[in-house]
Amino acid sequence: MDLHYSDEDLAFRDQVRAFLDSHLPKDLQAKVLQHLRLDKDDFVRWHRILARQGWVAPAWPREFGGPGWTALQRHIFEEECARAGTPRIMPFGIDMVAPVIMAFGSQEQKARLLPRILSCEDWWCQGYSEPGAGSDLASVKTTAVRHLDADGEHYIVNGQKTWTTLAQHADMIFCLVRTDASVRKQEGISFLLIDMHAPGVTVRPIIMLDEDHEVNEVFFDNVRVPAANLVGEENRGWTYAKYLLGHERTGIAAVGRSKRELGLLKRLARREHKNGRPLLEDPLFAAKVAALEIELMALDMTVLRVLAQAGKAPGPEASVLKVRGTDIQQMLTELMLEAAGPMALPFDAAYLEGEQEHSVAGDDAAAPLASYYFNYRKTSIYGGSNEIQRGIISQMILGL
Ligand SMILES: Cc1cc2nc3c(=O)[nH]c(=O)nc-3n(C[C@H](O)[C@H](O)[C@H](O)COP(=O)(O)OP(=O)(O)OC[C@H]3O[C@@H](n4cnc5c(N)ncnc54)[C@H](O)[C@@H]3O)c2cc1C
Repeated sequence: MDLHYSDEDLAFRDQVRAFLDSHLPKDLQAKVLQHLRLDKDDFVRWHRILARQGWVAPAWPREFGGPGWTALQRHIFEEECARAGTPRIMPFGIDMVAPVIMAFGSQEQKARLLPRILSCEDWWCQGYSEPGAGSDLASVKTTAVRHLDADGEHYIVNGQKTWTTLAQHADMIFCLVRTDASVRKQEGISFLLIDMHAPGVTVRPIIMLDEDHEVNEVFFDNVRVPAANLVGEENRGWTYAKYLLGHERTGIAAVGRSKRELGLLKRLARREHKNGRPLLEDPLFAAKVAALEIELMALDMTVLRVLAQAGKAPGPEASVLKVRGTDIQQMLTELMLEAAGPMALPFDAAYLEGEQEHSVAGDDAAAPLASYYFNYRKTSIYGGSNEIQRGIISQMILGL
């Protein structure tokens, strides 16, 4: 693998930079760089700007509306977006359900759903987890029973999903449902696409300690779903579910964002003082920052190696990216909190929501850091907890 950027790669990077300079709205950029909360309109606005440019789905093949970039170009694009401080593109449609539809969906599903994902006409959410099925995902109990009546074939869905991220905005949910309870649990699951506006779907918010509404419970009460919304074959959903998880975990590594946050950490640590000199020059603190930077560089190389396997769906190596990526993200938030010290203590929801220009703490950079730190505890849980990923690595990569 050649890790040096060619002249073409550098020209591509300049093209991306120029586009971001001219098209990333300053108000969105400010929210991202200051760790303020983004709302649905913010995400949709940025999604549509990228969609108009043809850049919103970097990993999609050209035939479905992708830009036809190489793995390295995709990496450069992600790095530049992170560096500039763009809102993230919600992964549920573009990076999760779309690859499954492309690989296993019917022609009709591809034609109907993929353009709506590209244009953000449909906001998707992920209906995997249930109260009794998190790490043990194959234990899903939500049932889908097939019926045939005068209106055609459909499923009747009953059950509950939980921790459904941003389901309050969603138009569609991709769900793992039980279609056969009489066989080994992995063999009785199907992958079903459900309209969130259908009668019988209820979204109940789970409000976090910091008053943020990020996750939900979703209930299905006799929801009627057309059989045309089954992806692939009935009872083969477990295979599709695992394929999707590989894509989810690669995205969670977020190296570009961590590089940007490392820059912020260094700026904070230069500004704060300890024993009369900048914190960044304190040997103990500097050693922690250096160790983190080395980890991040190693992860960057690992991501490039995984991406270099062009055309292959990510396998168990995605678990390595997930574990290391989220460890690094959490360490970054810890060190930022340490650098900001007591300035990060006051909790100011109005400032985080953008309702007030400056924080009551008097330090706008430090004010969101405690909330940011606590929010990032989730990264080692979602997408399959890191303990589970370590189990996958030990079995499937190390052969233990
Ligand atoms: C903020 C957030 C957003 C989420 N968003 C979504 C979403 O949009 N859609 C969705 O479907 N899900 C979502 N999830 C759910 C997430 O995928 C699950 O929380 C995760 O898979 C863990 O499952 P659990 O919470 O049931 O924990 P459990 O499975 O009950 O695990 C509890 C603890 O035991 C450990 N453990 C369990 N089994 C083992 C084992 N075999 N070996 C070692 N350790 C083990 C776990 O690692 C964990 O530390 C989200 C979760 C969070 C926190």
